[in-house]
Amino acid sequence: MQIIDGKEVAAKLRKEIATEVEQWMAAGHPRPYLVAILVGNDGASQTYVGHKEKCCNEVGFRSTVLRLPEETTEAQLLAEIAQLNADPEVDGFIVQLPLPKHISEQKVIEAIDPRKDVDGFHPVNTGRMISGLPAYLPATPDGILELLRHYKIETAGKHCVVIGRSNIVGRPMANLLSQKGWDCTVTLCHSRTQNLKEVVRSGDIIIAALGKAEFVTADMVKEGAVIIDVGITRVKSDKTKTGWKLLGDVKFDEVAPKCSYITPVPGGVGPITIISLMKNTLKAARKEV
Ligand code: NAP
Repeated sequence: MQIIDGKEVAAKLRKEIATEVEQWMAAGHPRPYLVAILVGNDGASQTYVGHKEKCCNEVGFRSTVLRLPEETTEAQLLAEIAQLNADPEVDGFIVQLPLPKHISEQKVIEAIDPRKDVDGFHPVNTGRMISGLPAYLPATPDGILELLRHYKIETAGKHCVVIGRSNIVGRPMANLLSQKGWDCTVTLCHSRTQNLKEVVRSGDIIIAALGKAEFVTADMVKEGAVIIDVGITRVKSDKTKTGWKLLGDVKFDEVAPKCSYITPVPGGVGPITIISLMKNTLKAARKEV
């Protein structure tokens, strides 16, 4: 069994992107520029945006965080988005989700110019991705592809079972792995799937993205399967200084001995997702989408 080390892969890719940025600028182009909009005071969102800012510095991007108060109206946010859409200096931008309840996330996503939509959430990008056209891929599925690529995990002809059909993780993941080049036979499961245990047990590659801590147990996994655990659930713990710990969707201790590869939580999928945002911003600067 091999543990997939997301931190190590992320560090390697960060260096590669930094080199590409240097070459891009040496050819006379401006420094790629990413803007993040953060509305309100959600603690987790502030942490995520902080990580993104730090990663931008590390790869050599220019970055700005627009911090807007919780009371920002939908119209005000849409006006900020319109400005960023029109600003020729800005290559790409993201609006950190979740947004306060009074703002429609879908309206916001659709207001972003698809050419600057480096989160890859705009329906135009989803459509381009499904059609196999150049697109900004959503960060988590793209990060998982990077992990599979790095560890040279065979996917062609393999049965991949994805648990969870969200627009940001499960559904694009299932689509991408079914495309030419990855060539998996994919089953996409959700809360209405029947005989889920048996379906999961038939998977050569299992991608757990349902958000239910330690849901996938050893009896659901066949010997030698590849396990990608996307889930992150924060639970109380008296064994950590902070008083809480993170659990994945897979019962790691009992599943790990059975499989060929497994991502830990934390340290597996999480660290790699931010790299996709960097890749997308570089693509945006180069006008590749
Ligand atoms: P989500 O939008 O809540 O979607 C969860 C999906 O799981 C839904 O499709 C749901 O089915 C399905 N599901 C729920 N209970 C199920 C069950 N008992 N059996 C089978 N399917 C079930 O979640 P998400 O945004 O995709 O996130 C999933 C998890 O990944 C969360 O823990 C989240 O924190 C984590 N996450 C991690 C990263 C990372 O960087 N590592 C990134 C994004 C998300 P229905 O559609 O039928 O309701």
